Amino acid sequence: MSVRCGIGYDLHRLATGRPLIVGGVELPFDKGPVGHSDGDVLAHALCDALLGAAGLGDIGTHFPDTDPRWKGANSLLFLQHAKKLLDEKHFEIAWIDAVVITEKPKLGPHFPRMREALAGALGVASHLIHLKAKTNEGVDAIGRGEAIAAHVVVTLTHR
Ligand SMILES: [Zn+2]
Repeated sequence: MSVRCGIGYDLHRLATGRPLIVGGVELPFDKGPVGHSDGDVLAHALCDALLGAAGLGDIGTHFPDTDPRWKGANSLLFLQHAKKLLDEKHFEIAWIDAVVITEKPKLGPHFPRMREALAGALGVASHLIHLKAKTNEGVDAIGRGEAIAAHVVVTLTHR
């Protein structure tokens, strides 16, 4: 058995009046990400980490933002597709560790639902998904509430 790691990063600008969806869960907030799909930074960074660990390119390769099929798409679909590709190549998800960075709202209370949503999309147990929240201490675009970002590291095993 071999082990592979993958890293993923994503950032979206936040704009007033858009739904804030993080980890497949809509959060009560007055701003949301600007993006072609639903702009779910956590799902996008996770998707990139999974594809990277499996040597399968990145989210833009599989879901180009020029494709009208992905306009407003639920990003959990991207994760379902990535999982299918992993299965075909005999990769198993061993661990997911993530950091979501945003000044507001508080994410921690929503983590249990996010873990369930992500685990459901990936067909894994939710205890394999670890989520952490950070603010940017008021500094930079994220600190001014203009953007939200996520970093994800994934460990896969290969049979
Ligand atoms: Zn994105």
